Amino acid sequence: MSEKKPRRVTRYYCHDCKVSFNIITWFEQRRKYCPKCGDYYAIKPYFRNGWSQKEIDILDQYIRGEVKFYTVVEQTGRSIDACRRRKSRRIRELGLKE
Ligand SMILES: [Zn+2]
Repeated sequence: MSEKKPRRVTRYYCHDCKVSFNIITWFEQRRKYCPKCGDYYAIKPYFRNGWSQKEIDILDQYIRGEVKFYTVVEQTGRSIDACRRRKSRRIRELGLKE
């Protein structure tokens, strides 16, 4: 049985379409295309620090018990750790107890 090659999943962002998406790459040199416009000019690796209001709304829904944690991860496209950290901070911001 052959060993599975580790896959690299990298998040990219298209500045034209304002969408982010994951690309699974086996080869670094492979050109990254935006799934929406099919172009690669506006593609940049995706680094985000600040949470948008839309993302915080989803997080608030989770804090209120309206959606599952997985929904936050899925909807924001952020890592589980990032969502956990932001949740703790959000709870403090709201003045709630964790
Ligand atoms: Zn695009």
